[in-house]
Amino acid sequence: MDLAYSPTQARLIEAALTFVEDEVIPAEPVARDEAAARPPEHQWDRLPVVDRLRDTARELGLWDLWVPEPWGQGLGALDAAPVAEASGRSPHLAPTAMNSIGADVGTMRLLAAHGTPEQQEQWLRPLADGTIRSAIAMTEPGVASSDAHNIATQVREEGDELVLTGHKWWTTGAMAPDCAFLLVMAQSAPQAMRHRQHSLVIVPRDAPGLRISRNLTLLGQADPIIGGHADIVLDEVRVPRANLVGDWHGGYSLAQERMNPSRLLHGLRLVGVAERAFDLMAERVQHRVSGGRVLGQHGLVQEWIGRSRIEIDQARMLALRAAWFMDRDDERTATAVSQLKVVAPAMAGAVVDRSMQALGALGVGPDTMLPELYSYARMLRLQDGPDEVHLLAVARRELRRYS
Ligand SMILES: Cc1cc2nc3c(=O)[nH]c(=O)nc-3n(C[C@H](O)[C@H](O)[C@H](O)COP(=O)(O)OP(=O)(O)OC[C@H]3O[C@@H](n4cnc5c(N)ncnc54)[C@H](O)[C@@H]3O)c2cc1C
Repeated sequence: MDLAYSPTQARLIEAALTFVEDEVIPAEPVARDEAAARPPEHQWDRLPVVDRLRDTARELGLWDLWVPEPWGQGLGALDAAPVAEASGRSPHLAPTAMNSIGADVGTMRLLAAHGTPEQQEQWLRPLADGTIRSAIAMTEPGVASSDAHNIATQVREEGDELVLTGHKWWTTGAMAPDCAFLLVMAQSAPQAMRHRQHSLVIVPRDAPGLRISRNLTLLGQADPIIGGHADIVLDEVRVPRANLVGDWHGGYSLAQERMNPSRLLHGLRLVGVAERAFDLMAERVQHRVSGGRVLGQHGLVQEWIGRSRIEIDQARMLALRAAWFMDRDDERTATAVSQLKVVAPAMAGAVVDRSMQALGALGVGPDTMLPELYSYARMLRLQDGPDEVHLLAVARRELRRYS
């Protein structure tokens, strides 16, 4: 067992941290200003600053680390992990710049493994090149989508076409015009066994019958950099049968497989979120004086620092372990990812919360990234499966050993 960085990790982490600190973080206010200045009819267009950052990320070799060869660099999860953590320091802008948004990475890996050569050419290649983006449409307002078996959007075969009808929401990224397609999970065999009821279908965002009715704000924020969260109605949407991904009725297991890399990426990013909040807290308490001494000399504040460091390092170890399993196709991958999925958002939420407290009113105002980091950590207690579902998955596996 070796806990030192591998040569690949050491090379990448230096490039990634320099990129995030010197290029991405200074670009955050630029992105905010560019987003605010857009006229309403262009409010979801890709920001010029994102294109500039993408060019730099490519030059630095930080592009498509998670995308399998020949479309991307095809790095192992463990080798790419420190870069994902670094990107969490700016959790929307940095992943967008490196083409490693969780939804896109999950879909690119799925299409690389299960897509037809035509699907790979038409959808995977431009996704990997960064000329388009994608979105995953599973969740629905009408059913408890924590349990993907409930998904009720219908898909049926008609000749050479598939026809979809239903209502999706929280489809992240789909407000943006460069989101070219949605990967839609729909019910194709309601009477079949639970795991054989659904199919995964590529639906172009401009397909007739697909209507985006509104953007859903996250804790009041529009999330313009990642393309918002769309509420989408599908009314007899027709696509070629060639848009089916994998087997007809085989969508449930593919959707689960697709989520593991996305969940791991989010867990790693949350470690980066917490590190950024920790820096703000630790720097602030060194010089702010109250009760006759700097805040950092108060025992209560030292407890925040000590607890935060321990919790961040614990979460990082869980993340690296999950990445190690993933690289080996180990059967423990899904459970390790579930453990991380429970621990990392709560950890990052707690560290950001302490940092806000340490910064006082500054911490909840507009002059630091803490409010955005907070909402990112909070939403990840829901996105990609709520805490409870992952806790149950871990518990079920444990109890099986005692039955
Ligand atoms: C910012 C954001 C972005 C998102 N992006 C996407 C996306 O791109 N694509 C997509 O398809 N979805 C997306 N989602 C949706 C997200 O994955 C779902 O909200 C989540 O899976 C929960 O489903 P639900 O909202 O239907 O909650 P429900 O299933 O109604 O569950 C409500 C609550 O009940 C509890 N609960 C549920 N099941 C159990 C159980 N078995 N045992 C105990 N308690 C339970 C949990 O506390 C849960 O939060 C996003 C959500 C957010 C907030």
